[in-house]
Amino acid sequence: MTLREEVEIRKTFAIISHPDAGKTTLTEKLLLFGGAIREAGTVKGKKTGKFATSDWMDVEKERGISVTSSVMQFDYDDFKINILDTPGHEDFSEDTYRTLMAVDSAVMVIDAAKGIEPQTLKLFKVCKMRGIPIFTFINKLDRVGKEPFDLLEEIEKTLDIETYPMNWPVGMGPSFFGIIDRKKRTIEPFRDEENLLHLDEDYQLTTSHAIESDSAFEAAIEELMLVDEAGESFDEAKLLTGDLTPVFFGSALANFGVQNFLNAYVDFAPMPSGRLTEEGDVVEPFDSAFSGFIFKIQANMNPAHRDRIAFMRIVSGAFERGMDVTLTRTGKKLKISRSTSFMADDTQTVNHAVSGDIIGLYDSGNYQIGDTLVGSNQKFHFEKLPQFTPELFMKVSAKNVMKQKHFHKGIEQLVQEGAIQLYRTLYTNQIILGAVGQLQFEVFEHRMNSEYNVDVVMEPVGKKIARWIENEEAITDAMNSSRSILVDDRFGNKVFLFENEFATRWFEDKFPDIKLYSLL
Ligand code: GDP
Repeated sequence: MTLREEVEIRKTFAIISHPDAGKTTLTEKLLLFGGAIREAGTVKGKKTGKFATSDWMDVEKERGISVTSSVMQFDYDDFKINILDTPGHEDFSEDTYRTLMAVDSAVMVIDAAKGIEPQTLKLFKVCKMRGIPIFTFINKLDRVGKEPFDLLEEIEKTLDIETYPMNWPVGMGPSFFGIIDRKKRTIEPFRDEENLLHLDEDYQLTTSHAIESDSAFEAAIEELMLVDEAGESFDEAKLLTGDLTPVFFGSALANFGVQNFLNAYVDFAPMPSGRLTEEGDVVEPFDSAFSGFIFKIQANMNPAHRDRIAFMRIVSGAFERGMDVTLTRTGKKLKISRSTSFMADDTQTVNHAVSGDIIGLYDSGNYQIGDTLVGSNQKFHFEKLPQFTPELFMKVSAKNVMKQKHFHKGIEQLVQEGAIQLYRTLYTNQIILGAVGQLQFEVFEHRMNSEYNVDVVMEPVGKKIARWIENEEAITDAMNSSRSILVDDRFGNKVFLFENEFATRWFEDKFPDIKLYSLL
């Protein structure tokens, strides 16, 4: 196969949702179609206790998440598909956001009974900012949930994106009969004993069936006619820019509507795209010279295994194990001999991978998040990964004052690596760490101890609303209070940490000349 042929069959997406919407279940069903796993229940150790193959991170194990389940590749219908998981709940971290920087499309799973939930919204915003295609799977139709129209409206209003239903449910919960494929004009029945039904142009059944007189069926047809009347077309260009999301209804648990979804996904999802460099060029996936960037570093919390795994997205060319690459930040040449791909229930050494693929590099401390790796004497940096607005803050100090040097070295390195964000209070120079998820603090504390031999004291500052300031020269001392703490970020930019929404609005009213903004 030529490089072009190899790249053209790749699709790399992140799966996003609020916890419990059914992300794991859907992933599992997708992997089953791809033959990547033989039975359900292998994706998350949490559910099966089957997580003996990896020795990564004690914390990870305790939490039942795994590095192996964060990237999975499977084959389907001549395509090679890479799924990137976006861990949620207490495992939510900046890495979760950064994962979205490494994909070409996203699949959003929504619980039909709950609609858009907070974490979906956060992750969606990042996808939207990148302008990548977003496919929506509305899950749990086997249970009673919100009405399809209400769900579509909620998506459109909350997320500011057009929707295009690809199929439409007939009933839900106990009355769930099946889904109507709008294009094929078929009704795929939910129950095994039923057969596929066909509809004509006017949504009349082509053969008579008991469902004809069913109120759920009548309602579904009426709704579909309304959808048709609204006349929104399936605009592929809008899909590709993230301005329209195709919506699929189904039940991941019952493996219903999943294959239709997957078929449409491979039809419409884009192949790997190019990436901008800081120098202003675009590196294209078919460029033969190898390049890639690091978007996530998984620290190994086990002291006996100090090394870490750096996740790399390949942007151009082919990776061959043992190849020499240059880390452009330092100019250092590295031979990559320990590399891994991620399969559903295993990691395995990867010898060859191309643009669009995600591979893991064993790292003894060479890499930072955002690093560019290039082959064959090239020299450029991919554009920086965005910094995300932290929501949780902790004051931190060294337990033993004699350990100051190690303490500062540890913080500096972990901050540079992208594990955590650093702030300093203006006058007292107190160190405050910022994170988007609690896990980041736990990892920080653990690594300070195991890698830098420093016990730290962490004192929660709690949830804060961080706002950067456009016109720093307008700040006065009077603005720094316990409800609006003024801090420097690590680049020396001023940031207010507001106690809550109320304090933020109060401040904006009182000091209208100060122009506040948030990062992503
Ligand atoms: P995640 O947290 O988003 O990964 O969600 P899971 O895939 O772990 O699913 C959460 C719960 O919802 C589990 O108990 C699943 O069995 C259940 N679930 C997932 N999909 C469906 C579905 O289509 N219908 C029903 N009734 N339950 C589902």
